[in-house]
Amino acid sequence: MPIQILSEEVVAQIAAGEVVERPASVVKELLENALDAGAGHIRVEVTGGGRQRIRISDDGSGMSPDDAPLAFHRHATSKLRTADDLTHITTLGFRGEALASIASVSHLTMVTRHAGFPAGTLIRLQGGQVAEHKSVGAPIGTVITVENLFYNTPARLKFLKKDSTERRHIALIVSRYAMAYPGVRFVLEQDGRELFRSSGSGQLGDVLVAALGLDTFRDMVEINAEQPGQPIRVYGYTSAPSLHRADRTHITLFVNGRWIQDTRLAYAVTQAYHTFLMTGRYPVSVLLLEMPSEEVDVNVHPTKAEVRFRSGDSIFAALQRAVRRAIIDLAQTPAMRGRYYSGRAPSAEWGLDDSHLQLDLNLDLESPGQYARYHAPALAQERSDPTAVPVGLGAPVRPRTLPILRAVGQIGATYIVAEGPAGMYLIDQHAAHERILYEQFMEEQARQEQPAQYALSAQSIHLPPVEARLVEENLDVLHSVGFSLEPFGPNTFVVRAVPALLADQPPADVLTALIEDLESGVRPGQASIEERIVQRVCKQAAVKAGQILSLDEMQGLIRQLERCQSPLTCPHGRPTMIHMTTEQLARQFGRLG
Ligand code: ADP
Ligand code: MG
Repeated sequence: MPIQILSEEVVAQIAAGEVVERPASVVKELLENALDAGAGHIRVEVTGGGRQRIRISDDGSGMSPDDAPLAFHRHATSKLRTADDLTHITTLGFRGEALASIASVSHLTMVTRHAGFPAGTLIRLQGGQVAEHKSVGAPIGTVITVENLFYNTPARLKFLKKDSTERRHIALIVSRYAMAYPGVRFVLEQDGRELFRSSGSGQLGDVLVAALGLDTFRDMVEINAEQPGQPIRVYGYTSAPSLHRADRTHITLFVNGRWIQDTRLAYAVTQAYHTFLMTGRYPVSVLLLEMPSEEVDVNVHPTKAEVRFRSGDSIFAALQRAVRRAIIDLAQTPAMRGRYYSGRAPSAEWGLDDSHLQLDLNLDLESPGQYARYHAPALAQERSDPTAVPVGLGAPVRPRTLPILRAVGQIGATYIVAEGPAGMYLIDQHAAHERILYEQFMEEQARQEQPAQYALSAQSIHLPPVEARLVEENLDVLHSVGFSLEPFGPNTFVVRAVPALLADQPPADVLTALIEDLESGVRPGQASIEERIVQRVCKQAAVKAGQILSLDEMQGLIRQLERCQSPLTCPHGRPTMIHMTTEQLARQFGRLG
């Protein structure tokens, strides 16, 4: 093909590809514009995962009749004049590309009015071409409606995920901006249901309760660190060591009001927990960094989620120091769950106005046993407790996979000491019980038996919006392992039954643990979501380290382990036992030459 200059239209679509990757990118760009326009109230309405329609209304400055049509030209911006301005950007946008890009791949309608003008302007575009342009009556501010996104770029459309996935991404974006701008009131409505709302009170704590849930927020500490003479301020909330997650994605960072992705800074946060968290566990943090605009270069990537720092090392150090300080201070005061934050007390304003939800959240804080008694229907008590540590006799008769072992005693309420023909065995009681429960569960599944369920008096569980979408996406899998769970209004689920193994656990805790597994998604080489959920259920149900067992219980556990197909490892692959042969013992005691 000979060289040709591409047409305007093709150029616009190529550029759009960089900025508008999915519906959530549209939401992001339009939110940034509303925030840059000084809005105090922003409403986001989404239909059909954003493909059908996204509407964002703000009460910001609006645009004059002259400016309104210019906004759709590429490289048209009111936020930047000279290249020099790029070194101290104080707005979220500056590239002048977003509106042009979004308009080129959708049907877009904008109604806007600036305070200095008696009337507003309506502009309608189709694939970037103006189809209508007129003066209309309108309130001050801007409403942008984006419909039929990617209607003219079928390739992009094909790559979009399920609606539920897109909805989750959108909820994530909205909650992030709400965190960075607690003084702005955000409302997110998806398919006519309100899923998220922040009060605009100016308190980050209020937003975190709405976005993460009160239960998570209770376990977070406030950080507010300013170093005299240092231009960097670090503030926000980070988890007490008792609250942790399986991956780094719960570390949320902002620089000058912009959400950023920065592995190095996330590492600084993780590092601050050194010795406070087990390896492989990560904190939940929402941290905002503020520094002079010339310290950060935001012109690195079209989506503006990556930034470059002029003095990266001192920012790394400031962040790590601030987090470390907060955790050490906390460690020195007696742990009092629910007392970490210094914000105001929870109130109806936080969206927890539904009294029975409050009740659930509070019950959550009681011990699991108490909870189960409170809710246990009479029926359940008649059944033998499936989570009980097996006692001596009555183990199912399966071929033996270990030699006969005799329980001798327990060490540290954690390990069982046993004797066998080939020497001494130390058994990790938790790992061993996990293995037993897992194989029982899988056997039942293989026999196509409906997993044993434990009926609860129906209770509702309220989840943060992002987590709620994940549960919605995986309802089938959850049903197949024995949860009876139904969506019940925005972000709320009614739980009617849990797998029998989990009878004595608060359903809210169980779901939180499961959501972690769902969040990590399916990666190549990893067990399926279903299998991992089963593993999680067994882990939650298994006898814990630190639990004193009777000799009968120890012997019963060993009996069942002896008949597991893979008795030597727990379902996650960790060893269930250590074996010391008679020879090894003899050698240690110098009895063997
Ligand atoms: P950028 O935000 O990088 O300037 P955009 O394409 O997102 O580029 O927007 C172009 C211009 O349109 C902005 O610079 C701003 O002047 C105007 N604009 C866009 N959205 C709004 C809004 N919600 N309220 C007021 N002005 C807006
Ligand atoms: Mg913009």
